[in-house]
Amino acid sequence: MRTVQMNDRSRVIKRFVLDIFFPNKCPVCRRAIRWDKLICNDCLEKLPVLESAEQCIFCGKLHPEGEPCQSKNSYDNAVSVMKYKGNAKRAIYNFKNRYALNLAEFSAPYIYKALEENDLLKTADCVTYVPMYKKKEFRRGYNQARELARYVSYSTGVPLVREMLVHKKTQTSQHNLSADERKLAAKSTYSLNPKSKWDKGFKTVILVDDVLTTGSTLNACADILKQAGFERVICASICVTPLQKENEDIKPAQ
Ligand SMILES: [Zn+2]
Ligand SMILES: [Zn+2]
Repeated sequence: MRTVQMNDRSRVIKRFVLDIFFPNKCPVCRRAIRWDKLICNDCLEKLPVLESAEQCIFCGKLHPEGEPCQSKNSYDNAVSVMKYKGNAKRAIYNFKNRYALNLAEFSAPYIYKALEENDLLKTADCVTYVPMYKKKEFRRGYNQARELARYVSYSTGVPLVREMLVHKKTQTSQHNLSADERKLAAKSTYSLNPKSKWDKGFKTVILVDDVLTTGSTLNACADILKQAGFERVICASICVTPLQKENEDIKPAQ
């Protein structure tokens, strides 16, 4: 796959002009790269990109191929681009904290390919994303999930619905919470935005977030979307947490 998909003249011009004021950088190593690249060649080679057979199309987890899916999620499908390890972790850190938005543009065509290969695109009506607490988004300057959703919408041709969900309060760090505590915290964190408008005939939504970890955030958002009338929720993320044994650098859940 090409690293840059640019079939739109205005997007090419925008990137070229932006590069003059904000020099283009690799989202992993932060070295300067040419204006029309999204990642440097060294980092591209080392990215832990998923093989399509590695990921369960239902829960999105990396349980062994052929093993039936045991999980009971509110979402119906999940696709990701790479494993949350090695330089993918660095890329996500930079994506969240250092405006490394190239990662969204780089990942969207992979998400398109995974959705297409699994026959999930033709029924998709709209794209939305996991919201960020407004004050936090203001401080950061952007919501990385929304940036990714914009590119997923562009790559797939499925329309984006902005601010369908809202983040109600600041979340305390989830690192020390048990799985059940995470579920509860996520449930009380999100709600439907009463001001959001979309075609009520829409039945399938693509829900975008940066990383799929336990699934508690995506489940909480999928619950709300189903209560709002959606019949199918397809999650799309850049990264998915690998199985524990493959991922010694991630601390085991408490
Ligand atoms: Zn690099
Ligand atoms: Zn599964």
